[in-house]
Amino acid sequence: MTLPVAAEWYTSKKIDDSTTLILEPHVHVLEQANMFLVEGGEHDMILDTGMGIVPLKPYLDTLRTDPDKPIICVSSHTHIDHIGCVHEFDTRLVHPAEAEEMANPSGLSSLYRDDMPAQLLQTFLDAGYPPIDELLIDALPYVDYDPKSYVLRGASATGLLNEGDVVDLGNHRYTVLHLPGHSPGSIGLFEEASGVLFAADAIYDGPLIYEGPGMSISDYLATFEKLKALDVSVVHGGHDPSFGPARMHEIIARYEAIWLS
Ligand SMILES: [Zn+2]
Ligand SMILES: [Zn+2]
Repeated sequence: MTLPVAAEWYTSKKIDDSTTLILEPHVHVLEQANMFLVEGGEHDMILDTGMGIVPLKPYLDTLRTDPDKPIICVSSHTHIDHIGCVHEFDTRLVHPAEAEEMANPSGLSSLYRDDMPAQLLQTFLDAGYPPIDELLIDALPYVDYDPKSYVLRGASATGLLNEGDVVDLGNHRYTVLHLPGHSPGSIGLFEEASGVLFAADAIYDGPLIYEGPGMSISDYLATFEKLKALDVSVVHGGHDPSFGPARMHEIIARYEAIWLS
């Protein structure tokens, strides 16, 4: 199979004054995570770092108003689509429950469908994702790219984020929420002043994944109780487009109905 070469690997879209959404459009939707760059007064922040197929930091530096400003990398959790480029950043924060996994990734580390555990593939299909071709990418990042060379590198954490900690960028302050269920160390970031919630894979407007290694429906139900109590204005999830509070409550109700029936 010969794949075309992508004109550009990352795309970006400014979603508010200081926040930019970054995507990898040539990665299968299943593993195409949202990355969020927030430009702060004193620090910038990148929340999640994609698959790690192409270096991310040089791209971010083309987007940042001040590429010399220190940048904090926060990993919402450690699935392959969220920590690919974490090693490129000097400051790397993650919840303690997934620090070991970020340092030494033990899960999927391949772009080939046949390397994905059959049960995991079935989980994704059952959840409503489209089937995967031979590869998780539909274009090459550059002419001589060899998909077999792909590895998920990971990196050790330089600091840990627990429930209630604050990620302070100067003009933006995000409170860390521990949101397990999708993974044991999933975290969200909530800015009380604006009601902005970065929810990562705890909730997004697409098929949620709750059956697999490290996943727990009972934890997920408790996470939803926590989300329901928040006064959110907008939710930026780990996948799919952002949504408002009414949609958040609809999504929660839909999964509660499935899990509690
Ligand atoms: Zn994800
Ligand atoms: Zn995930």
